[in-house]
Amino acid sequence: MGTIPYMTSILFKHGRIIDPHSRLDVVGDLLITDDRVVAIGTVDNIPTGTEIIDCEGCIVSPGLIDIHVHFREPCGGRHEETISTGAAAAAAGGFTTVCTMPNTTPATDSPELISSAIEIAKNIGKCRVLPTGCATIGRQGKELAPIADMTRAGAIAITDDGDVVEDDAMMAEVLQVACEADRCFMQHCQDPKLTIGGVMHAGPIQEELGLGAWPREAEESIITRDLTLNKNIGCAWHAQHLSSGSSVAIIEAAQQSGQRATGEASPHHLLLTDEACKTLGTMAKMNPPLRTKKDIEAIKDGIKRNVITILATDHAPHPQETKDLPFPDASFGIVGIECALALYVRALIDDNTIDWPQMLAMMTSNPANLIGRSDLGRLEIGGKADITVINPQEKWTINATEFLSPARNCPFDGWNVHGKAVLTMLGGKITHTQVKTTSC
Ligand SMILES: [Zn+2]
Repeated sequence: MGTIPYMTSILFKHGRIIDPHSRLDVVGDLLITDDRVVAIGTVDNIPTGTEIIDCEGCIVSPGLIDIHVHFREPCGGRHEETISTGAAAAAAGGFTTVCTMPNTTPATDSPELISSAIEIAKNIGKCRVLPTGCATIGRQGKELAPIADMTRAGAIAITDDGDVVEDDAMMAEVLQVACEADRCFMQHCQDPKLTIGGVMHAGPIQEELGLGAWPREAEESIITRDLTLNKNIGCAWHAQHLSSGSSVAIIEAAQQSGQRATGEASPHHLLLTDEACKTLGTMAKMNPPLRTKKDIEAIKDGIKRNVITILATDHAPHPQETKDLPFPDASFGIVGIECALALYVRALIDDNTIDWPQMLAMMTSNPANLIGRSDLGRLEIGGKADITVINPQEKWTINATEFLSPARNCPFDGWNVHGKAVLTMLGGKITHTQVKTTSC
């Protein structure tokens, strides 16, 4: 079969193959032919002409998934990122699948805009882009968006990210309709009544800097409210970008009572505290804000105990001029997709919070399961050849000027890190590589 001339085979040789879904962790070979995985672990027949990728010392993982990115297309005339540049940046970071947030201009609240995003991404081919659809028209919280129609057009999840769905009755309706459409709902947990004028974590540093306060309770109260509303609805409910340590316990209690509740952690909420607002200025302005060491420890403990099971970047490109403003006026957010892997290594593996298989589960099978894509985030015979080869030891320095994303708003610029995606493959096609291949 493998000798049919028009087929292309690639052998990933002698890598540490980790497939969190099947709990496989073995040193061996992996063969793909065309867009499919055909052998894992031991490869008996290597077709003539097979390309060989030496994976000695590297991890061979299912393609990484990031369920929270902002690619800003349609962009309303501004160009801090497009699906094209975002997809290239994702591939460079080791990602094969991303979920784009609908706070575009105009907001992604119709089946037409969902179809258009899918079409654009397909033509680029660098990364599988799965757009999410708005919960409410224009993300205004007033009128329900056509969730069922958007789902049929390919919306992978429902969210008004950037804003919370504030009204209780509207929220209950969104959960009901998302549940009927068999899609998860992703919440941006921010009670606007508690964050009026808020720009950073409420505490001594905020007081010292004289900036508006954004308390933890703004996040926790929305989580509590949503999980109460969802109790009898049973939608798959997901908390985006957790910042407060106390949020972990609220989610855990819901899980223990049998609710489908999950949460995600972003690199910046694992590595930076509110002190960074003093040293890095607006580069440390985030929504939700950076908090304290205590919060980081609680989120990491939640990760260790499998309460928080997903890692997501909240990659948020902004033009420099909107970050150059005074702190209260500057944009919230940072880019991170090209350096996320190394940052997670530093935050979670270097201090033994978790090991590689658990971390990769948080970047492959766990997010795939949340978005209902059991064909993604795993390595299996006959499955899609979405593969990321990671050199866990490779040392490098984050250099924002080298990002494929045109945005440069990254507080990790200049950090010395280790761990790098050295090859990314999407459906059998190499979308990023810094390794040489040989033929046999
Ligand atoms: Zn958000």
